[in-house]
Amino acid sequence: MKIDIYASGSGGNCYRLSDGETTVLLECGIPCRQIMQNIRFEIRSIAGVLLTHDHMDHAKAAKDLAGFGIDIYSSEGTFKALGLSGYHFKTVRALQSFDIGTLNVFPFDVQHDVPEPLGYVITSRKTGERLLFFTDTYYLKYVFNGVDIIMGEVNYSLDTINKDISKSRRDRLYESHMSLEHFMEFLRASDLSRLKRVYLLHLSDDNSDEVYFKTEIQKLTGAEVTVC
Ligand SMILES: [Zn+2]
Ligand SMILES: [Zn+2]
Repeated sequence: MKIDIYASGSGGNCYRLSDGETTVLLECGIPCRQIMQNIRFEIRSIAGVLLTHDHMDHAKAAKDLAGFGIDIYSSEGTFKALGLSGYHFKTVRALQSFDIGTLNVFPFDVQHDVPEPLGYVITSRKTGERLLFFTDTYYLKYVFNGVDIIMGEVNYSLDTINKDISKSRRDRLYESHMSLEHFMEFLRASDLSRLKRVYLLHLSDDNSDEVYFKTEIQKLTGAEVTVC
């Protein structure tokens, strides 16, 4: 599967995923015109957008993209929070898989301070590859085996957290975003025998260390690690 990074972090998140036959966007948290430039205005090439939750750094362009006729997939809670409804907003439920072209999509619930946030496991019938995508969750309650690619948030680590940020900001972080420590705990509990690539997403500007995170995940998994 081919992955392009358009944006990652609290300023905006948007990724393009293609198995050579079906192409989707993961998140659309940057201005619509920026997405259009990235996809070279080939609107028909995008089979849908998988949206995890309603925060603007993930959902900014949802309304505009639907206006261009692109289907947006997310939970009922997310669409309600965004005040979006209509033909191109496709409600999906945690643990109920569905297909977009050659991609099978399995949504699952994650832990973030919004209504009904989701992560996704995406399996291509064309390449046989399986990708796990999660972001904006402080914890993962499921284990996913047989995954070839992981795109996952590492927002901060207990070692690199900025000691000067306020206690309330720190507490919010602990209850809404993924730490390096929780990410590694999740990896240790998972069967990594098929894992080839890891993409680290949504690093905090203040509380992260790119090189340290990459080295630790590389050591643990032996996979190719890309910091987005
Ligand atoms: Zn976010
Ligand atoms: Zn969020």
